[in-house]
Amino acid sequence: MISQQKQQLIELLKIHFSYESFLPGQEPAIDNILAKRNTVVVLPTGGGKSLIFQLTALVLEGLTLVVSPLISLMKDQVDSLEKIGIPSTFINSSVSPSELAQRLQKIQNGVYKIIYVTPERFYNQNFIQELKRLQISLFAIDEAHCISQWGHDFRPSYLRLKTVIKLLGSPTVVALTATATPEVRDDIIKQLQIEQADLVVTGFARPNLQFAASLATNGQKTENIVNLLTTNPDLGSGIIYVGTRAKANELLEVLMDNNVKAVAYHAGLDINSRNWVQEQFMTGQAQVVVATNAFGLGINKKDIRFVIHYDLPGTIEAYYQEAGRAGRDGQSSFCLLFYNQQDRYLREFFIKGDNPRPETIIEIYQFLLDLNEEQAKPQDSILITYAEIAKNISDSVPEMAIGTALKILERESYLARLKEKSSSSYLKLEKDWSEVIASLGSRAKKQLEVVNKLQEKYSAELQAGWEFNLDEVAIVLQVKKASLLRTIKKLAENNLVDYHPPFRGTEIKILKIVEPTDLNLDFSALQAKSDRAYEKLNEMENYVHQVSCRQKYILKYFGDPGTDPCGHCDNCLKLQKFKNKNGQDYEHREYLN
Ligand code: ADP
Repeated sequence: MISQQKQQLIELLKIHFSYESFLPGQEPAIDNILAKRNTVVVLPTGGGKSLIFQLTALVLEGLTLVVSPLISLMKDQVDSLEKIGIPSTFINSSVSPSELAQRLQKIQNGVYKIIYVTPERFYNQNFIQELKRLQISLFAIDEAHCISQWGHDFRPSYLRLKTVIKLLGSPTVVALTATATPEVRDDIIKQLQIEQADLVVTGFARPNLQFAASLATNGQKTENIVNLLTTNPDLGSGIIYVGTRAKANELLEVLMDNNVKAVAYHAGLDINSRNWVQEQFMTGQAQVVVATNAFGLGINKKDIRFVIHYDLPGTIEAYYQEAGRAGRDGQSSFCLLFYNQQDRYLREFFIKGDNPRPETIIEIYQFLLDLNEEQAKPQDSILITYAEIAKNISDSVPEMAIGTALKILERESYLARLKEKSSSSYLKLEKDWSEVIASLGSRAKKQLEVVNKLQEKYSAELQAGWEFNLDEVAIVLQVKKASLLRTIKKLAENNLVDYHPPFRGTEIKILKIVEPTDLNLDFSALQAKSDRAYEKLNEMENYVHQVSCRQKYILKYFGDPGTDPCGHCDNCLKLQKFKNKNGQDYEHREYLN
């Protein structure tokens, strides 16, 4: 029965999609669906997940319902399905009520094979009633990791799906995702209550990438990178990921001093600079981009020959995603990770920022309540900076943790952050221009240039006292914002000008007042999230100390049962060397000289 259907499917694959064969994982997933087995499919992005339910829809008797959170993609998908002769439609909030009625009618008339819906649709009881009258053969859940609170894109509406599946008479379920950690996968199965589900996990190996890790002090890291780039003229394009913006700027300067064509990218740059940097890298005018993790999404450069990590990433997921930007064209490329013990502290700092302790959240709430009471009108909002909050609580926590704590309180409607407020900078000349210029000395060329330009364009304003925007003025004067700021600060230190930096604060409105100790927050879930972040960091650190195949370690982490060692990561090469010398095959590097 199935084999006959299979034959038919291969025909349909050619007729509708013009493909000759299946991609890895597609066939076992399709087999499962046809055998009515619930299945979780984990394939990397671009692995061909959609084809699985699109193709089976053609042979299954009833309808295929596809749940997807991506409203913007639904129309495109339906359009392309229509083009290849697979009648389909979508229902989401972009569809007008009259159009919706028409579509529902056509669905009842059996016009379509596939219907795309958003998970939020299932809050509507009428819609569920409409569906109950239909024969749904396959319930496909795209981006299925959205159901997991451990995943990065959690959508509460996905939690309803298990109830909907039952209401629809438990059709076969296929849940598809590219997020492959075993915990997210297990959570998908648990949350959907499809305990007996089969797993299809495949295709995460990147055979053209050579992985390596190297223990090095920060000095050695920089030295190695400079050596590598200056002694290998044919190295090609690469990304160097660093942990902080400051590090990105620092390393950029070193590379430029060594005549490497490099640019830097981080979230601190304005949009124009970011576009420019991206353009330089994409067109090959810059060989290297030194970047924080802000760089990468949507970068479609296929011939990246290397990705170096200067600092330890926080998770294997992040590492593999970033390193995986190398070699998209299938050509040999390398992924090198530098590490030293201190790298862990930076990561722990980020984890602490992401996971404030319950005591800290309670204290922040108490502090804000006190401020609120002191106000003339309690319904007024509070204007405050994170730094000020940080100063007023007993623990020393990074400002990032203050932001996270406020976000947690906001999520449970204890408060609302209205907007970021920022004011202009203020500058007033305290001495004559001649004195200002004399104070700089003739060697401070950059600063002299800035001062001359300020005098030329804004002399009157500066004498009167001037509120200004640093970004705008830097553009008008055609100087770097950093040089402008450095010059102003230097003048202020020497009392030549009166300077007040801009105030950046957040407007907070208290929405609910309770005893701080009675805050109804899920502290155990927050604790679990923090524990998990540390576990993931441990897994990342273990990667560095691995003695066997690095590609295998990563694949195992993602639950991909790829078996053979890659043969070209640093560890595999060391093993081979040993084997060649002695003709024996040892598992561990400890046996090496
Ligand atoms: P995913 O949803 O897993 O990210 P897609 O479904 O968007 O991946 O598929 C990625 C690309 O692979 C698409 O261009 C798709 O048409 C193509 N594709 C899917 N199945 C096959 C196949 N059997 N042979 C060749 N190309 C395929």
